[in-house]
This record gives sequence, structure tokens and C-alpha cells, in this order.
Amino acid sequence: MKQKISYPSIFFMMACLFATGAKADTEREYGTHEHGAGQLNVALDGKTLDIEVIAPAFDIVGFGHKAESEADKATLAKATKTLQDTSAMFSIPKTADCQAKPVTVKQVWEQEDDDDLSASGKKAEGHEDHKKGHHEEEHEGHSEFKITYQYTCAAPGKVTGLETHYFTLFQNAKTLKTSILSTKGQKGSVLDSKNTKILF
Ligand SMILES: [Zn+2]
Repeated sequence: MKQKISYPSIFFMMACLFATGAKADTEREYGTHEHGAGQLNVALDGKTLDIEVIAPAFDIVGFGHKAESEADKATLAKATKTLQDTSAMFSIPKTADCQAKPVTVKQVWEQEDDDDLSASGKKAEGHEDHKKGHHEEEHEGHSEFKITYQYTCAAPGKVTGLETHYFTLFQNAKTLKTSILSTKGQKGSVLDSKNTKILF
């Protein structure tokens, strides 16, 4: 890969290239995910380092339904704060001098009422919008988080790799399938609690 690709087409391309099985869809199918299994997309393009984590809500908060009880809301708020803490989530070589931009945390539902949890908290309650005829248990358990990180690195050549602390922070999470794109090319791997580093 020599040509420069600008964000966000990078992730789109990676989604195409890393699409698994017979499905060529670039969209993940919400509701058919496997609990414990998330996706980590990393792209280094010039001074810009993009990281995207897509994971079942179960992995992040332990449930997939809307947070309604006080306990659920507290869990969600705590998880959102942790996800937005870039230095808790990732270790990037300090010599690269990467500065993080504000983190976007979204909870994605089967319907199109995504919640942007990073946007100061006020949102309409969408719970009554359940599709009629949709199985309740099915709807209950399955939403996903999509967390978007972006850094600007003064010395991007020093970004030889990075480590994630995701598995320590979110113990329901078991694996992250990675897609890594840089000027050195493209690769993928599977991370878990014992294997938390990626190399470009
Ligand atoms: Zn689920």
C-alpha cells in the first residue's frame, strides 16, 4: 500500500479487506456479534494515528440493553469515562509525542438511534421505540460500542507499535481482532489478555 488514504476511508478499506467469511458487507451485523469478541482498527497516516474499537456492549458494561436502572447508568457512565481516558486505554511510545483529540464513544443499536455518550449526556429516551414483533430477548442483549480515538504525533516514525490495556479495564472482553494499517503495510492479529501489543 503506497498511496495515501485519508480518514475515514482507511477504516472503510480495512473493513473491506478484512471482511470475514462469505460476507462482503462492510457493516458489522449488529445483533449477531459474539460476546467477548471485539475489533480494533489502527491506522497511522502521516502524523495522524487513528484507533477505533468496536465491541459488544456486553464486553464493555456487561449488558446490551439501554441503561435504565441507576446501577446500569452508573456502570455506563464509569465505562464511558474509562474509554475516554486515552492513557488508561493505550500506551503509545512517549518519544512519538502523540496528543489525543477528544474521544468519541457511541453506543450503536439495531435501530438508528445511536447514542453519542461523549456528547454531554442529554439524550431522549428511546426505549419505547422497540420494533413491534421484534423478539424482546433478542433486542435486550445486543448493542455495540464504537469508540473513536485520534492522535496527532509529532514524531510518527517513533510509533512502532502500541499496547492496549482494554482487557484489564474490561474483563468481559476476551479478544480483539486487529486491522493495522501504516506505510509499512497492512496486517491483522488477534489480541487477548496475554497478548496486548501490536506492532506496525
Ligand atoms: Zn450482545
